[in-house]
Amino acid sequence: MDDGHVELYHGFRIQYNNFFGPYKGGIRFHPSVNIDEVRALAFWMMIKNAIVDIPVGGGKGGVIMDPKVLSASELQRVTRGYIKAIHSSIGPYVDVPGPDMGTPPKVMGWMTEEYKNQILKSKTRKLTENEILATFTGKPVDKGGSEGRDEATGRGGIYVLQALMGKLRTKNPGKTRPTIAVQGFGNLGYHFARIANEEGFRVVAVSDSKNAIYVPDGIDPETTLDCRKKTGSLATCMCTNSSCDIRNGKLITNEELLELPVEILVPAAIENVITGENAHRIKALIVFEMANGPTTTEADEVLEKKGILVIPDILANSGGVTVSSFEWQQNLKDEHWTLFEIRAKLKKKMEIAFETVWEQAQKNKMSLRTAAFVVAIKRLAEKIHQV
Ligand code: NAD
Repeated sequence: MDDGHVELYHGFRIQYNNFFGPYKGGIRFHPSVNIDEVRALAFWMMIKNAIVDIPVGGGKGGVIMDPKVLSASELQRVTRGYIKAIHSSIGPYVDVPGPDMGTPPKVMGWMTEEYKNQILKSKTRKLTENEILATFTGKPVDKGGSEGRDEATGRGGIYVLQALMGKLRTKNPGKTRPTIAVQGFGNLGYHFARIANEEGFRVVAVSDSKNAIYVPDGIDPETTLDCRKKTGSLATCMCTNSSCDIRNGKLITNEELLELPVEILVPAAIENVITGENAHRIKALIVFEMANGPTTTEADEVLEKKGILVIPDILANSGGVTVSSFEWQQNLKDEHWTLFEIRAKLKKKMEIAFETVWEQAQKNKMSLRTAAFVVAIKRLAEKIHQV
């Protein structure tokens, strides 16, 4: 630590399945991460990657620590320590870690640098500069990262939502502007809300861990983010296109946000927020899961009985790992794709994944969540059969 004393941190890397390609999944820096959670998340990555049909397997990593309480130099030493510990088990064709909670591009950049140091020291392992870059995703764009990675999960979600609206025959949201409430205004929630707004949806509520705001005429996500940066809180940021004024809306609780009478409810913050206790009060027609695991099993049953359509996380939020796989491919091929190309490729992947899951659900009269698992497990079974 900066004051000279030594702290010990425990970390993990789980390599769950590599039938489709190298293990792939983020590294989570969080005080409550544990090996069972990392193992479950690695399984989840395998399923997600199979649904979007990208040539990578399932993996995940974690270090038990709170990055928020460390100085930048302490965080950098823990990051490098983790890579020193796992470097011989990862590589561009073996295991390709990416970002997750607590591992923004700067941290992924340190990991790549440390990995390079370890490769240079090794007498047996030789990798090119591109192969070293291809060992990590989520890097800063000027250090081998991909265009569009920051918005990828949100944008991928919007492509799925638009495909769904097409099925529900309200293809032209410009006319009706379906209403959306977004819980969470972090990396994912902000980009999702911004792109939804650009695409003609009406985002009427957003929240962070402290405040939720409801603006019936529609929030402008960009000015709302600026306002929160300036004032340090969402509490007074009832921002429409023209102005931020508390008279535009009202302050509500996160629980109230979940129960708003909107067409689409988007949990985009943390897990287990829709439970057996509150599910029967949900008024939305669609629950669009952008966070991982926002709906408990009991809640899922209640929503199904109520006829609320649930778009599962494993489909809705797989845009992030999809663009991560694009980053890996660009590094290996020594290419840099434009934002336009990235968006076009992402759109195609998400639309095909949605269509496949939708058809599976229609054919077998099952929920989209079950259908998504069926699609993934079928692909795995086919792959096992080929091996
Ligand atoms: P983030 O840390 O940037 O943002 C999280 C947001 O949730 C913040 O606005 C925070 O204030 C809010 N929040 C925290 N606790 C809350 C609570 N109790 N009630 C309401 N809001 C709360 O994280 P993120 O990257 O935006 O990820 C959000 C979720 O999406 C997580 O479940 C994550 O696993 C999942 N996810 C993210 C990505 C990605 O690429 N960012 C990809 C796949 C899945």
